[in-house]
Amino acid sequence: MKIIDAHCDSILDVLHKRRHLGEPNHEGQADLVSLRKAGVKLQFFAVFIESAYKPERAVLRALEGIEVFRREVERHPHLVTLVTSATDLTTLETQEQLGALLTVEGGEALGGQLSMVGVLYRLGVRSLGLTWNQGNELADGVGVGENHRGLTEFGKTVIKEMNKLGMLVDLAHIAERGFWDALEVSERPVIVSHGNCQRLCSHPRNLTDGQLRALAEQDGCLGITFVPEFIDSETPCVDRLLDHIDHAVEVMGIDHVGFGSDFDGMDSRTPGLETAAALPYLLERLRGRGYTEEQLDKLAWGNWFRVLKQGLSPLYFGNDRNTIEQ
Ligand SMILES: [Zn+2]
Repeated sequence: MKIIDAHCDSILDVLHKRRHLGEPNHEGQADLVSLRKAGVKLQFFAVFIESAYKPERAVLRALEGIEVFRREVERHPHLVTLVTSATDLTTLETQEQLGALLTVEGGEALGGQLSMVGVLYRLGVRSLGLTWNQGNELADGVGVGENHRGLTEFGKTVIKEMNKLGMLVDLAHIAERGFWDALEVSERPVIVSHGNCQRLCSHPRNLTDGQLRALAEQDGCLGITFVPEFIDSETPCVDRLLDHIDHAVEVMGIDHVGFGSDFDGMDSRTPGLETAAALPYLLERLRGRGYTEEQLDKLAWGNWFRVLKQGLSPLYFGNDRNTIEQ
């Protein structure tokens, strides 16, 4: 069964350990070969900006991450191919390689400049997480706590620009006010690439049932994540993760839930889901919970595929793009 995984931090691993994505990642959780072997056909690769670089050097660090990712793709043409359009998605199905979607985690990458949205787009970025846990020029992240801001005026303009270009708006990590503002502002479906259900695990990174419902109503998608703290505060395990999937499907419907592993982005691991190699086991366990092959195909592939197919087509071309002058 084909899989789309909407979040991993393996680029950070490449940056820190100077390894290559094509080499086996023995200490880590994912690499190009192991992902492909586990059935992953499209992987979102996030460029994460470490806190030490924020705010002054955030743009440079993001560009560095993008460069490293692009170089890795060029280095392994037999293993991976960059996906930047709805057409690439269709072609991908006939190709041997793993498809790679480049994403950035944190609006700090824009340096407060609207024109940077277009720059990132031209560099191949097709999804932007508006915040990480801190606040930035766009909004506050979940780490800010109770008295957080929603979307700033700049944040709203950024979403509109992303909508026009065909870039996914990712609301993982954003504090609740910003979540609701973004749903109101965005004219296209938004996503939460990696997060779980608040109802089952009360962590600020998880979504309330109200948020889950609103995300589904807007035709967006949630990537269920394997980070132990977001699964269960005491005993994270595969069974509990399956509970999150069941709950999300119950609240959102079968068409709005997918996977967002966060491989290579977690400090500890969930027993049974330590590496990408565990993905077939996860599918097997979902079968055990009574999901039909058609439902499984939606969770593993179809839902993200639909969101990407819609989300990556640009709304504006050529001279219609006048927002930079504003
Ligand atoms: Zn994250």
